[in-house]
Amino acid sequence: QKQDDYQLMENISRFYQQQLKVAQDKNIAVDYLKSRGLSGQIAKSFGIGFISDQWDGMMKAFANNRNVTQQLVDLGMAIPGERKQPYDRFRGRIMFPIRDKRGRVIGFGGRVIGDGTPKYLNSPETRIYHKGQELYGLYEAKLANKQLQRLVVVEGYMDVVALAQHGINYAVASLGTSTTPEQLQTLYRTVKEVICCYDGDRAGRDAAWRAMENALPLVQDGISLKFVFLPDGEDPDSLVRQQGQQAFEQILQQATPLSQFIFDKFLEDNPANSHEEKAALVDQLQPLLNKMPDSIIKNSLIEEMASRFSITSEKRLIELQKRSQQPT
Ligand code: ATP
Ligand code: MN
Ligand code: MN
Ligand code: MN
Repeated sequence: QKQDDYQLMENISRFYQQQLKVAQDKNIAVDYLKSRGLSGQIAKSFGIGFISDQWDGMMKAFANNRNVTQQLVDLGMAIPGERKQPYDRFRGRIMFPIRDKRGRVIGFGGRVIGDGTPKYLNSPETRIYHKGQELYGLYEAKLANKQLQRLVVVEGYMDVVALAQHGINYAVASLGTSTTPEQLQTLYRTVKEVICCYDGDRAGRDAAWRAMENALPLVQDGISLKFVFLPDGEDPDSLVRQQGQQAFEQILQQATPLSQFIFDKFLEDNPANSHEEKAALVDQLQPLLNKMPDSIIKNSLIEEMASRFSITSEKRLIELQKRSQQPT
């Protein structure tokens, strides 16, 4: 009788958690988690675990016959060797179980302890793990909140866990470079307010722009997308540790609305002075508008565009509105 994929993954997650208590070298892991400001209680609520640096720490405990060995390869937990037996994918790492929204363990992220490469190792795509569709921490956020009002999207596992450590238990991580349309759909099925809070670096700012583009088709009245831009070199983890819950929630409160983000970015990239330059900008904004369904938000975006770029002609404004209502 083959063990269910989800049951096997759950058991491995429990094994990793247990290693934090019983492994011979557990102290390097426990000390590392402490150094990152995490309590045992928070580590437990996210099911954080540990695996020592050996070839077969997990396989020794689980791969007791050929079927299971193959299953562990299929689930991305073992790497098939050329000549040797399949061996552990994750070795010498802090382990973060990734759960789907029903709470089933579908994959893992593993962080090296201290320096080393790659810093994070993630489960590959498998028959149960599709990374573009999952959000790390969503299940945990739902468990911690009776009624979720808003969700903060961050880049990393540590950001989610550190925020929860400081009482901000409504963050999720997008598990990749940018937040996908599927992930945004999941987010808006759960809450009406989404705040993207990526790292304060080039990659984080680019990720925000891509998330905005992916969200446009979903923007309707009653839902909101906002952005927080952190100081250079900071991420949500480093900032909440420095400044605490209140200051961080204050920053969330002052998040940049969608329309302001769009205008600021356009003006930053193309300083428009003359009337001609402004008109050209309006044409560049058109493709973004075309992605949006009709809504009051969209209309006010068009009106704001008109006033910012001083489109005084009524005729031009109406033409703009018409054009952006045509199906694309
Ligand atoms: P930490 O705070 O633990 O140093 P971080 O989460 O701030 O890590 P970033 O470099 O900002 O690390 O990366 C954000 C996220 O991107 C990580 O949490 C991880 O999910 C993913 N990531 C980072 N580096 C890698 C890598 N080398 N391979 C795969 N995924 C990675
Ligand atoms: Mn980064
Ligand atoms: Mn980071
Ligand atoms: Mn970090």
